[in-house]
Amino acid sequence: MSNSKDRLEEYQKKRHLNASPEPGEGEGSLDWADKRPIFVIQEHAASSLHYDFRIEVDAVLKSWAVPKGPSTDPSEKRLAVPTEDHPLAYADFEGVIPKGEYGAGTVLIWDRGSYRNLKDEGGKRKSVSQQIEDGHVTIWLEGQKISGGYALIRTQDGKDARWLLIKMNDERADARRNPTSTEPKSVTSGRTLKQIRDEEGGNDE
Ligand code: MN
Repeated sequence: MSNSKDRLEEYQKKRHLNASPEPGEGEGSLDWADKRPIFVIQEHAASSLHYDFRIEVDAVLKSWAVPKGPSTDPSEKRLAVPTEDHPLAYADFEGVIPKGEYGAGTVLIWDRGSYRNLKDEGGKRKSVSQQIEDGHVTIWLEGQKISGGYALIRTQDGKDARWLLIKMNDERADARRNPTSTEPKSVTSGRTLKQIRDEEGGNDE
């Protein structure tokens, strides 16, 4: 397996880390996290609004862009488009990516927490990286807004790969909730997208 430096090459290539406040490899403390692997969902108001869903796998954040964000309703299938691996420290990033830079726009930490592999026991034991390889991931999230089992299922492979993010039918499923619209604020700063933009956007925005 390649180390996290190699896997972050695409991340670094896309960015000018001297011009953007985004973190580089090895930066950040993640002082809120314990030993368990982490996940983060970042609302990203870029050229189009989406939610970046990221899970820690082998020392990087495997990432998908989810246009509508996660649902708590198992009957909702949310499109998830894979994007490049991000450094772990990205889970602490909230702020404004300047105009002209890759992903220009505002990033808000919409939810985060730990997760566990639902295929880590018994006869079906399989690592999350193997599940990603196989195109079928099941994990249990413990976030502040989102929790319970979620499945990520690849529906199209190759250069234009497409996945679906689906809430599993368990006791945390709730078709009446709609947290992306009713709980819009950052779980780390309590700010809205607009407040982040106003406070950190400079003269640029
Ligand atoms: Mn994004």
